[in-house]
Amino acid sequence: MKHEQQHCIELDGSQGEGGGQILRTALTLSMITGQPFRIEGIRAGRSKQGLLRQHLTAVQAAVAISGAQVEGASLGSQNLHFTPGPVRGGEYRFAIGTAGSCTLVLQTVLPALWFADAPSSVTVSGGTHNRAAPPADFLIYSWQPLLARMGAKQTLALQKHGFYPAGGGEVVAQVEPIAQLQPLDLLARGAHRSTRAEARVAAVPVGVAKRELERVAAQLGAIDTQVRELPAREGPGNILLITVAHEGVTEVFSGFGEKGISAEAVADAAATEARHYLESGAAVGEHLADQLLLPLALAGRGSFTAMLASSHFSTNIGVIEKFLPVEFSTTALPEGGIKVELS
Ligand code: ATP
Repeated sequence: MKHEQQHCIELDGSQGEGGGQILRTALTLSMITGQPFRIEGIRAGRSKQGLLRQHLTAVQAAVAISGAQVEGASLGSQNLHFTPGPVRGGEYRFAIGTAGSCTLVLQTVLPALWFADAPSSVTVSGGTHNRAAPPADFLIYSWQPLLARMGAKQTLALQKHGFYPAGGGEVVAQVEPIAQLQPLDLLARGAHRSTRAEARVAAVPVGVAKRELERVAAQLGAIDTQVRELPAREGPGNILLITVAHEGVTEVFSGFGEKGISAEAVADAAATEARHYLESGAAVGEHLADQLLLPLALAGRGSFTAMLASSHFSTNIGVIEKFLPVEFSTTALPEGGIKVELS
């Protein structure tokens, strides 16, 4: 997939969402296409701008797997110049060192390793269930099965939970290289299979988990619920996961327990998201929508329906279209939601 002309792509980190995804998508596509890039104003849309530990680890991970040359890879840096080399499969271990999200680092490097010269094993330590990032369970039960359908050969395992602020969790991915991803057409979610809720607590009273599940059941009706007590050393932390499985897609909605926020409020936030999804006709929710764009672009074709086009979604399209010769079309559906197509 290497391009003939390796001209340097210029990116504006303040564009659209102005967050970390602009950088991560650029790292991934730079490694895959061989095109260098320069980004200015990294995370300019955030109150604490520049590279945080999670973003810096993503950069270092990309450097490690592609032997890239990089300028500006330091904490707080708002500019980066990245020139990739060939991606090499192998055994990698990356430590974020804070509760920064392991899953976002994995989503940066895994797509490059799908097309590497050899199998890989990637272990990332840090946060596994972070607010504003995909929980490890989302990657495992929602994202990964769709990629498997597109032909990606990878497995993901959550070894240890890591919560804010301590971190210390661990997610491991194994990858077998493939030559090409296959298109995905996901216009309908298919028949409903199950809706389940699981509340996990680590060094947090089990009553918190029970209250969350009672509240979810009050909102969503009679569903399977499960309390899981994690080893205290993985805490303190609390995560509520609502898994909605349909024939064609599984969605995971999360509530992140936090000091000062009641169990009921955590449950209400996750249950409301799940209920809106269940009531909509779309195949995927807000987060899968922005995370499916890159695999679809790599496959070169595909389509899906989604509940909405977030600013993450539009911003990600902007970055992808700078690296790959693709053009997404997004149309509003009369029944609500959007249809995304790449032809
Ligand atoms: P920031 O720059 O804001 O610190 P960041 O580097 O953490 O951000 P963003 O640019 O905000 O990253 O991207 C976060 C990614 O996490 C997006 O792909 C978004 O869809 C995804 N995400 C956020 N919350 C969830 C969730 N609850 N479930 C699944 N995915 C999520």
